[in-house]
Amino acid sequence: MADKYINIANGPLAGIIKKLGLPAPVKLRRFASGSAYLKEPILVVGTGSAADQLADMLKENSFSVHRSFDPAYRYGGIIADYTQIKAPADLAEISLGLGAALKRMSACARIVTIDHAPDSSVSAELNSARKAVEGITRSLAHEMLRGSTTNGIQLDGVDLDAPSVRGALWFLLSSKSAYVSGQFLRVNSTAGTPIGAEQFAATGDDGPLAGKTAVVTGAARGIGAAIAKTLARDGAHVVGVDVPPAGDALAKTMNSIGGRACALDVTAEDAGARLAEDVGAAVDILVHNAGITRDKLLANMNQQQWEAVLAVNLESQLRINSQLADAWGNEPHVVSLASTSGIAGNRGQTNYSASKAGVIGMAAACADEFAARGGSINAVAPGFIETDMTAAMPFLTRQVARRLSSLQQGGLTVDVAEAIAFLASPAAGGINGQTLRVCGQNMVGA
Ligand code: NAD
Repeated sequence: MADKYINIANGPLAGIIKKLGLPAPVKLRRFASGSAYLKEPILVVGTGSAADQLADMLKENSFSVHRSFDPAYRYGGIIADYTQIKAPADLAEISLGLGAALKRMSACARIVTIDHAPDSSVSAELNSARKAVEGITRSLAHEMLRGSTTNGIQLDGVDLDAPSVRGALWFLLSSKSAYVSGQFLRVNSTAGTPIGAEQFAATGDDGPLAGKTAVVTGAARGIGAAIAKTLARDGAHVVGVDVPPAGDALAKTMNSIGGRACALDVTAEDAGARLAEDVGAAVDILVHNAGITRDKLLANMNQQQWEAVLAVNLESQLRINSQLADAWGNEPHVVSLASTSGIAGNRGQTNYSASKAGVIGMAAACADEFAARGGSINAVAPGFIETDMTAAMPFLTRQVARRLSSLQQGGLTVDVAEAIAFLASPAAGGINGQTLRVCGQNMVGA
């Protein structure tokens, strides 16, 4: 159900809404071919050679770059380089330099902090400074106005020139990350293919997933249908899976993208084997999206409700991953749908939260196995997304849930799909075993 309040807040009543101090969500800038990045310059804050390297990387990719703040300009983004800090005392110059430019940001601008990932084996001074950058990034995300976001890239044992640093940068600077804020992309290996900003934004045969075969479960509707469409837009050939009763909706979605429909219950004992046979080609991308809820307080929950949710949302994924062993492509990328309920917990959802927290554990535990195959496995945890499921919530609960995020609105199915398309791409090959929240920095959870 569309969020009509966004139209009201951006219509003739905008002034009154502002005066009353009511939430004023803006229409987020989303990806459409050719409009991935804002045209305004990007300010790179930081004095060391790493900041110069970042500025060069941006210039090579046709961004207009400033190395010092000029109040005559509006900025489309700020990159704050913290990679050379040694102690908390080094934080002030970069952070206040960043702060000075904040009032000159365009709507839906992007701020990206870059630092080494916290690591308890370094000195207390250095690690406290690195953890402090996480605090700065998250707090700044809460301060953003007019649809702008703040996220971080963390280097975990890699240098700035690791391929996925580029991929992460293009994703976070682009309109594809419209509903991602207050989050970190941790680049933890040098795997992955370096990609230019232009190719990141290309579609079809020039797109980042050109030539890939992708399987999406639960693709008949909702988030799954959006994932199928987005992967196809980026060049993948998509096989959509759903239960036989959803056959008509699945066929419609797959026909619209030239993909193929596969009627299959993912909980079948031999689902992976049947999938491999049906796809008939190496599986380059697998998105475990099929999911169900059977909400009840634990005191009222029966065995069927518990088992059904664990079977669809988690156990099927473990089984399919292992049954596909011989069917994977050379660099297989798996992305599983978790949920912020799996991070923060949610009343009435012990079964669902168990399954979604389990997905996060599965991605972390399988990372080495997929790295050995040249690929990756990650989880995406959506917050409040506008779907049939959330449309069924009581009116007031739905309104509160929408406004509880820093962006003061729910996400769209395409927002989740964009994050998945990025993590499933070779450009993100050095991001492995992680969970990325797509929640507009919802107050629920970490
Ligand atoms: P949805 O109910 O609209 O769609 C789920 C799809 O999965 C349906 O087409 C359904 O037929 C299919 N499915 C269910 N059981 C299946 C099975 N056994 N085999 C094959 N297909 C099966 O749900 P959605 O809102 O689009 O959510 C998609 C995923 O995102 C789920 O994993 C959900 O838990 C997760 N998620 C959704 C939200 C949200 O706000 N909607 C938030 C967090 C996480």
